[in-house]
Amino acid sequence: MRDPAGRVYVLLMKTSNFRIVPLPTEVANTARQAATAAAPDHAVITADSPTGYPCRHCLRWAKVGEHVILFPYASIAPGRPYSESGPIFVHAEPCERYGAIEQYPADFRGSRVLRAYSSNDDMIDAAVVSDNNPEPVIERLLQNPETAFLQARSVTRGCYTFRIERA
Ligand SMILES: [Zn+2]
Repeated sequence: MRDPAGRVYVLLMKTSNFRIVPLPTEVANTARQAATAAAPDHAVITADSPTGYPCRHCLRWAKVGEHVILFPYASIAPGRPYSESGPIFVHAEPCERYGAIEQYPADFRGSRVLRAYSSNDDMIDAAVVSDNNPEPVIERLLQNPETAFLQARSVTRGCYTFRIERA
């Protein structure tokens, strides 16, 4: 591409059109405190599979032997037709919140379904990620001007994993 002065611009890096929104740190810390206080809806579990316990804060699979907290999280707040609360895991020990927000988390490229929601929190579309290639699905769902945000969820159990917004 040339500007009027004749300079040539080369697009060196494809900038992503989305950003990943992991679970807020304060939600993870509140869950850790509730688990320490033995809240009945917060269970501490030892991971016994390398791909069974996705931490929604660092967006990595918990390693076998690591402790995770299982608790209900309202990914769509109460008071809406599509309000939804469901079980999620976070590491029981403090972990670093996922920071590469312009990149889709490598651990969850497969086995996810992406849901599109409107600004009223209504679910307006959904698509399963195939071939471990989520970016084209994200791009297509965000092309709809009615889409306000996306949710990535487990394709098998339906559990909320993280949120995706426009960059
Ligand atoms: Zn974690």
